Amino acid sequence: MSEKLSPWESQLVNVKKTCDLMGLEPAVYEVVSHPKAILKVALPIRMDDGSVEVFDAVRIHHNDARGPTKGGIRYHKGLNLDTEMALAAWMTWKNAVVNLPYGGGKGGIDVDPKALSKVELERLTRAYAVAFANFIGVDLDVPAPDVGTNAQIMAWLIDEYYKVTGKITPGVITAKPLSLGGSVGRTAATGRGVYFASREASKLYGIPIKGSDVSIQGYGNVAYYAATNFHDAGANVVAVSDSKGGIYDAKGLDPVKVMEHKRETGSVLGYPGAKEMGSADVLTVKCDYLIPAALQNALTKEVAEKVDCKMIAEGANGPTLPEADVVLNEKGITVIPDICANAGGVTVSYFEWVQNRQGYYWTEEEVDQRLERVMVTAFHDLKAQADKYDVPLRTGAYALAIGRVAEAMRFLGWI
Ligand code: NAD
Repeated sequence: MSEKLSPWESQLVNVKKTCDLMGLEPAVYEVVSHPKAILKVALPIRMDDGSVEVFDAVRIHHNDARGPTKGGIRYHKGLNLDTEMALAAWMTWKNAVVNLPYGGGKGGIDVDPKALSKVELERLTRAYAVAFANFIGVDLDVPAPDVGTNAQIMAWLIDEYYKVTGKITPGVITAKPLSLGGSVGRTAATGRGVYFASREASKLYGIPIKGSDVSIQGYGNVAYYAATNFHDAGANVVAVSDSKGGIYDAKGLDPVKVMEHKRETGSVLGYPGAKEMGSADVLTVKCDYLIPAALQNALTKEVAEKVDCKMIAEGANGPTLPEADVVLNEKGITVIPDICANAGGVTVSYFEWVQNRQGYYWTEEEVDQRLERVMVTAFHDLKAQADKYDVPLRTGAYALAIGRVAEAMRFLGWI
């Protein structure tokens, strides 16, 4: 049963299907079904109570045909190599969809960051930077935050990296604090990109955002900025959730107030006037736009059968299993795939890298305009591929990405 496919296997299903559809030489699939390099290390950390704990850490370069690998660092309990490989590959495809001069990479630590004190977290992060100092680099592999990491963690990483290498190269890590060379607009970029991609799709598919009902799984970085952008465009954000549960209000929630409540109490649960539901129930409430923005594999076949929306914009990476995709297609639900919908973050990370290398910084307006241009172009590029092959948007996105990566690999003589 493909429902039991791991994230790595599930992304390979999409890649293989697309390579066959495009009639590409078998070497393309052969190369991209093997991550180029993987570094795994064990990090022994002195805990505050004097004991030592060992944390497994990894960094993966999936494919660097189009440029240095780029992708986040995730701190997550239960983090495993298979999922990290899938996330690295998705970065290869995502970076190619939005036409950034990058390959794909990913990394992380098997840790629950909330279970550590701030000092322990800093020690662990600095140990990661030392262990991977030769595996990352401004022209080699450029990390950024992901689930469980943030700008502070990027700052500790970069400080340790500078010490190890003896060079101040701020472009080695993106989504840094502004005072360390971060870009304006980076924090909001992924959610804003979800909105730009959805807005383009809304015009083509005739589902106006103004007055629409939006349900969002997750209430972290991506979910929050997707919520505020849809809200500002006149949509009703009717449901949001976090790992503890979900909330629903048919009249529409105020995204800013919900975030204030979450910051104060640790969860969206208990938000005044809203009906409470399970974390996953927000995926099946009746709405126009559904935005899964938590973790991978949220939309299984069973969930997809109950989904009641017109369009899905994938804020999370890999939220939809292949079998669920089949169900959604049969139900006529348009899915804006993750490798386009959530590419706004890496796009502004790219802008940050460019600004760091130039030593010249842009205004928020410039960043926003360029982000909009990239997202709009990417959406229409992938739609053109979907139309060319008469396939759903996801396959169109893979066709666009794989075609670009294959072309680079051909020039390099890899295939
Ligand atoms: P985050 O840590 O800020 O937020 C994650 C949210 O998901 C939290 O609200 C958490 O409570 C919630 N969550 C976790 N498990 C859940 C569950 N079972 N049900 C409901 N909610 C659950 O992370 P983020 O940066 O917002 O990332 C979310 C997703 O978007 C991830 O898949 C990530 O890989 C992807 N993504 C993030 C970015 C970025 O720039 N941050 C860019 C591209 C893709």
